[in-house]
Amino acid sequence: MHKYCLECEWQCSTADGRTEADVSEQAIEHFVETGHTVDSFRLPPPVIRLN
Ligand SMILES: [Zn+2]
Repeated sequence: MHKYCLECEWQCSTADGRTEADVSEQAIEHFVETGHTVDSFRLPPPVIRLN
């Protein structure tokens, strides 16, 4: 799982050694703190949504 912000440089990934639950928690925290939209894709393989 890789999560990233659509509005700033924030990102969080299980590739960094975090669990999926931790990544989800970090994403929610970022949203709550900033109101930014966080999108995600699963690893592997990385699939980038273009919409
Ligand atoms: Zn952000």
